[in-house]
Amino acid sequence: MSAKTHQFLCLHDNYGVLLHDPGSGATASIDAPEAAPVEAALKATGWRLTDILVTHHHNDHTAGIPELKARHRCRVVAPRNEAERVPLVDLTVAEGETVNVGPLSARVFETPGHTAGHISYWFDTEHLAFVGDTLFSIGCGRILEGNAEMMWQSLLKLRNLPDETQVYCGHEYTAANVRFARTIEPDNAALTARADEVAALRAAGRPTLPTTMAVEKAANPFLRADDASLAARMGLSGSAPAQVFAKIRAAKDSFRG
Ligand SMILES: [Zn+2]
Repeated sequence: MSAKTHQFLCLHDNYGVLLHDPGSGATASIDAPEAAPVEAALKATGWRLTDILVTHHHNDHTAGIPELKARHRCRVVAPRNEAERVPLVDLTVAEGETVNVGPLSARVFETPGHTAGHISYWFDTEHLAFVGDTLFSIGCGRILEGNAEMMWQSLLKLRNLPDETQVYCGHEYTAANVRFARTIEPDNAALTARADEVAALRAAGRPTLPTTMAVEKAANPFLRADDASLAARMGLSGSAPAQVFAKIRAAKDSFRG
């Protein structure tokens, strides 16, 4: 594992992330919520922007692209299934393809549901995943352009990643996600441990991300819709996991905690 990362806040609660390969100097911005914080991060690290890897078309993930591309002439990589909604795309990628940042290689997963063409990037040898607005710590993205079955299948793809994978997400939503999740699984010890950790991090003004797949598999109810005890808690024993997932997602959509 040779890659370096640098995470920083953008807009209100978006995260920007730079991924850097020290050997080649290649540096990718994962999404580009706005140009100024990315520029500040480049200045702080001394890294030179070579690529922007886009997870999905939403404005709070792409608005910084035109300014960054004009200044750095970087390559813009975007999901093939919604590339027409992303500015200044140079390369489109789809399920199973690989994309490189210098010598660093990512496998692309199509993870639709939040948007219809959303993709995630997995740098397997670096143990890094960039999942945009599909998976959050102790939560998942709102289903805006898909359905519950589609989102559940997307989350299952991410759940297959190794436990040690460091997971970078698009937003700092963890504290609110924890409040909701504890109403669903109050007796989940892994969730209680994560809740304590999140409270301490937020009290110190620190980010709760990245998270790890090990933590999310154990504590995130949206990855546990095929757990029998969780299905029972949702009153859906014996139901298809996608149905259990749909009910948890609907409960979160109306949760005011
Ligand atoms: Zn989004």
